[in-house]
Amino acid sequence: MTNVLEVEDLHVSFRAYGGEVQAVRGVSFSVRPGETLAIVGESGCGKSVTARAIMGMVKAPRGRVKKGSVRLHGRELSCLGKKEWQQIRGAQIGMIFQDPMTSLNPTMKLGTQIAEVLVKHQKLSAKKAREKAIELLAAVGIPEPERRCDQYPHECSGGMRQRIVIAIALACDPQLIIADEPTTALDVTIQAQILALLQDLQQAKGTSIIMITHDLGVVAEVADQMAVMYAGVIVEQGPVAEVFDNPQHPYTRGLLQSVPRLDQPSEERLIPIQGAPPDLFAPPAGCPFAARCDYAMEVCAEHMPQSTAFSLQHQAKCWLHDSRARRVEELVSAGR
Ligand code: SF4
Ligand code: MG
Repeated sequence: MTNVLEVEDLHVSFRAYGGEVQAVRGVSFSVRPGETLAIVGESGCGKSVTARAIMGMVKAPRGRVKKGSVRLHGRELSCLGKKEWQQIRGAQIGMIFQDPMTSLNPTMKLGTQIAEVLVKHQKLSAKKAREKAIELLAAVGIPEPERRCDQYPHECSGGMRQRIVIAIALACDPQLIIADEPTTALDVTIQAQILALLQDLQQAKGTSIIMITHDLGVVAEVADQMAVMYAGVIVEQGPVAEVFDNPQHPYTRGLLQSVPRLDQPSEERLIPIQGAPPDLFAPPAGCPFAARCDYAMEVCAEHMPQSTAFSLQHQAKCWLHDSRARRVEELVSAGR
């Protein structure tokens, strides 16, 4: 099965006061047809920047993809120009953001906004596009779709607006949808409905999804594969069931332990991870988690750990699993 998306050794940085933020540092992963990959991590870990880089939305002069490759069905995207990107975004890659108001135009009728995408990418006539817009609104569970077509975003609830964003993202049957915290701004019941809707549509169309989230509950609910990001690095990735049952990186374990569990007495529920992520103006040479890790060895601060594989798809970057650690540890101590 060929991959829909392949990301290889992606590095992204931003210019800011005080220097260059190295937001994404050597990220690699792939997404297969019909599969959902969740990229999970705390805010500022680089997950949204990774998503923006895939969509060609890291903009000069502030942002820069410094290195790496992003391939959609084998086609390299990182070298494309503005015009080519306009053909891909919205047509081959659909996008759903946290706040539907940022994706919807407040001054344009809903039906027109959906139809616009269809006219642009599928060259439908205005009449055909409106018909398809109504169909799409019905498909995402919007009652009285014809009447809704003539309304403006502010006339809809938050949940309904997110359904409309999903309708727009799906309008051209993209092979890949990137959803960045699509349910974070919604209340819990609506959240569950939107996730269920995305899953239903995915099953019907075989779309691949990259779901950016800080919520492990969402990961467990919708994802097949997961990548745990910390300080711009994927520290662990693999099939969701494997990573949840058998986490190999201390940061992943910490994340999983900090999730409240209903079967535990309340005072034992949350075990927050102590400390803060490193400064990405000057990221550490070694393991980014070293300053917060209970198992840190000398080698951890000095050298970036390599990936260790635990199964065909499950891997983590941690010196605890690297048989060379003791040898390097000796060399590090000898050098002092
Ligand atoms: Fe902890 Fe070292 Fe593993 Fe990093 S490499 S997670 S510091 S043990
Ligand atoms: Mg974000």
